[in-house]
Amino acid sequence: MNTSDSTASSTPKSVAIVGGGFTGLTAAWRLSQQGVNVTVYEAGSVVGGLAGGCEILGQPVERAYHFLYKTDEYMLGMLEELGIRDQLTYHKSSVSTYYDGTLYPMMNPVDLIKFKPLSFINRIRAGVSVLYLQKVKNWQKLTGISAMDWLTKYAGKQVTDVIWEPLLRGKFDRYYDKVTMCWLWGRIKQRVESRDDTLKGEALGYIEGGFATVVRELVDRINDNGGTIHLNAPVSNLTKDSTDAITIASGDSSATYDKVLLTVPCKVADRLLTEYKPVNPDWFKRLNSIDYLDAAVMLFATDKPISDYYWHNINTPNSPFVVFLSLTSLIGTERFNGKHVYYIGDYIPPEHPYMTDSADVLRKKWFDALGSMFPAFSEDNVIEAQVYRFKDAQHIVDIGFEDKIPDYQTPCPNVLLCNFAQIFPMDRGTNYAVRDGYEMATRLLEDT
Ligand SMILES: Cc1cc2nc3c(=O)[nH]c(=O)nc-3n(C[C@H](O)[C@H](O)[C@H](O)COP(=O)(O)OP(=O)(O)OC[C@H]3O[C@@H](n4cnc5c(N)ncnc54)[C@H](O)[C@@H]3O)c2cc1C
Repeated sequence: MNTSDSTASSTPKSVAIVGGGFTGLTAAWRLSQQGVNVTVYEAGSVVGGLAGGCEILGQPVERAYHFLYKTDEYMLGMLEELGIRDQLTYHKSSVSTYYDGTLYPMMNPVDLIKFKPLSFINRIRAGVSVLYLQKVKNWQKLTGISAMDWLTKYAGKQVTDVIWEPLLRGKFDRYYDKVTMCWLWGRIKQRVESRDDTLKGEALGYIEGGFATVVRELVDRINDNGGTIHLNAPVSNLTKDSTDAITIASGDSSATYDKVLLTVPCKVADRLLTEYKPVNPDWFKRLNSIDYLDAAVMLFATDKPISDYYWHNINTPNSPFVVFLSLTSLIGTERFNGKHVYYIGDYIPPEHPYMTDSADVLRKKWFDALGSMFPAFSEDNVIEAQVYRFKDAQHIVDIGFEDKIPDYQTPCPNVLLCNFAQIFPMDRGTNYAVRDGYEMATRLLEDT
């Protein structure tokens, strides 16, 4: 590992970045372009973090379903700069809702008008409330009310019970009634703004070769600029010396840097910075007030199609998963030799059995449930299946969340923290990881 001479100057000679997801890689790329000696420490065996890749049927895809919106300006700018913008294609998305044994299309107002689980008047109410939300510019007025309360008041109880509560429970589990309406507003805004007149619906972008294409470009550029990326290198300790240089320990090695950027979840940052608690207890109070859920995802391929829709919201109460998704319905089956690729996903608390069940147990539970919902599915048609679990995959954006967000500057001089829990009011995503990665590089280059 490289070691800096740690003499303090306003532009750092060396920076360590903890976490090789999109935030860390983006910051590392920018810093390395400016001649900074960058070292990335990634705990996992691959870079890319939550958007990291794998292969199915020999083709690169994401371990967890990922796409881009038309409005993802920072990611689009990065693709342009990396010279791979032409590898991004937008496809027409198709959304459906599975409720009480039936799959309903849910792509436009006509679909909503035909949605029988709601009374006719409530179909209108559901549509009008979403239309109203699309017009809201002053999102600040939505921060103090929970999505459940807002929806019950404006969309009505039946609309909330049938459409929104199952989705909020699926995404936020036991925190479903704590989530701020502002979060839901942000989600609706993103989806509406990604509509495309030519495609006559919501347009979702997918990169040829998946997000791994972007990750590979970033890694190559970082290496070309003299940076280093350590895989399987969880950082276990961080200490500051009398000159404010920071020593990082990972495994049996340690190295000293002028500055450090942490891009890890809040609880990992808490552990690494624990000795600074007396310096700024309020910063740590904010850090530790943010709760997270984990995620379990199954990626699988079949030789027969299950459904023509891309996205299936599973709104039946107590479903064992919240979303079922067909990648090949979005991007086509060509690159998979005519086979079909799917994801099943669920967000769960850390103690949930999905985080410890064997892959076989989870596979059986989810395939049994899928078969009972989608008659076209038979486990006999499954060619390949992989299970992935992600720690701290989604933070809880609850009422008053804006007051919980810790500053980027940690109580330890020369150490910044930037993770997706600091993104507000929009939902986390690779686009904001890129934006924040650039921002962190700028700050690290300044005298902090
Ligand atoms: C199921 C799912 C679907 C999603 N879908 C989309 C989508 O369609 N579009 C989209 O744009 N975004 C999507 N996202 C969100 C997106 O993946 C994230 O917002 C983004 O990847 C976050 O990047 P990050 O670098 O901030 O964090 P992360 O990707 O979490 O990276 C943090 C890294 O830090 C590493 N780390 C942790 N502790 C240590 C340690 N002690 N030492 C060293 N390294 C450590 C981790 O291994 C990880 O690689 C999705 C997320 C999930 C879970």
